[in-house]
Amino acid sequence: MLQRQLARAAALGFDFRTGVEPEFFLVNRQGTAIADELDQQTKPCYDQLALMRHYPLIAELLEGMEQLGWRPYQADHEDANGQFELNWTFASSLLTADRHAFFRVMVQAVAERHGLGVSFQPKPFAQLTGNGAHLHLSLWNSEGRNLFHDPAGVLGLSQLAYHFLGGILAHAPALCAITNPTANSYLRLAGAQTSSGSTWSPAWISYGGNNRTHMVRIPDDQRLELRLADGAANPYLLQAAVLAAGLDGIERQLDPGPRCDANSYTDPPQAASLPRDLPMALEAFAADGGLRGALGEGFSRAYEDLIQRQNP
Ligand code: GLU
Ligand code: MG
Repeated sequence: MLQRQLARAAALGFDFRTGVEPEFFLVNRQGTAIADELDQQTKPCYDQLALMRHYPLIAELLEGMEQLGWRPYQADHEDANGQFELNWTFASSLLTADRHAFFRVMVQAVAERHGLGVSFQPKPFAQLTGNGAHLHLSLWNSEGRNLFHDPAGVLGLSQLAYHFLGGILAHAPALCAITNPTANSYLRLAGAQTSSGSTWSPAWISYGGNNRTHMVRIPDDQRLELRLADGAANPYLLQAAVLAAGLDGIERQLDPGPRCDANSYTDPPQAASLPRDLPMALEAFAADGGLRGALGEGFSRAYEDLIQRQNP
C-alpha cells in the first residue's frame, strides 16, 4: 500500500521523507501498572531521574538503533508517568515505516529481557496522557532539495507544503480510521484532562505554528508534524494514507485556511472536531470517495472489515 502511494508521488517528482515518534509506556509484565512505582511526579515530562532508573534498558535500545544505523538523537521521559519516547533521524518514508514496525518489536523484546512489559496502546491509563505516533513529513525532489522549504513562504513553508496540508485537513475525519484504528484510540483524542494538566493530543481539525495543541504543528521551516496518529496505527498504512491525502491536496491545490495560534484547549478554534469514536471515523472513511479511490476500493473494504472485527 505504501509502495503504491510512493510510486504515485515519484511520478509527480516527489520523494516522501518522514520521521515518526512512537511513544510508549514501560509497564509490569502483566501490563496492569507502570513499571516504576517511584515515577509519581505530577508533571513528569523530561523527568531525568525516572529516565535514569531505566537506563540499562534505554541504553540498550539506543545502542541497538545506533548499530542499525538509525542515528538516534533523543531519549526522554514523556508527559505521562511511565511513558518514554526515543527518536531517530528521519529518512525516506518506506525506511521509516520499516523502522517503526521493527522498533515496536525491539522495544518489546528488549524490555522483556529486563523483566518489563511495554504498551503502545493509544490510552492505556485513563488519567494519564496517551501514546501518540506523530509523523513529521516533507516532500523532496530527485536532487535532494526539500520542496516544503521556501524562505519567502509563510513560516518558511512553500505553497506545495500548504496544499499538502490542505489535503490532510480535508481528509482528516476519514484518515482517523487509519491513524486511530481502535476504540481505545478515541479516549486519547480529545481526552479528558490528564493528571499532568494536558493531553497534548488533538481534538480539532486545525493547524498552528509551533503549537502542540493542534492536529498539525509547523515546528520549523522544513516540515509538517501530524500529531493525529497513535500507537495502534499500522506503520505502513499510516504513511500511505497521509501521503494519499497530501497528494490529493496538491493535485486539487487545496487551501488549508488560516492558521490557529491560540491554545486550542482553552480557546477552541473555528474548526470541525475530530471523530469522537471509531464508528464516526469509519463512517467518515466510508464517505470519503477520494481517499478510498486513492487507497483502492478492495483494500478499503477489507480494512473496514478487519477494523470492525477487531472492535466489535
Ligand atoms: N503523548 C501526546 C499524544 O498523545 C503527545 C506529547 C508530545 O507532545 O510529544 O499525542
Ligand atoms: Mg512526544
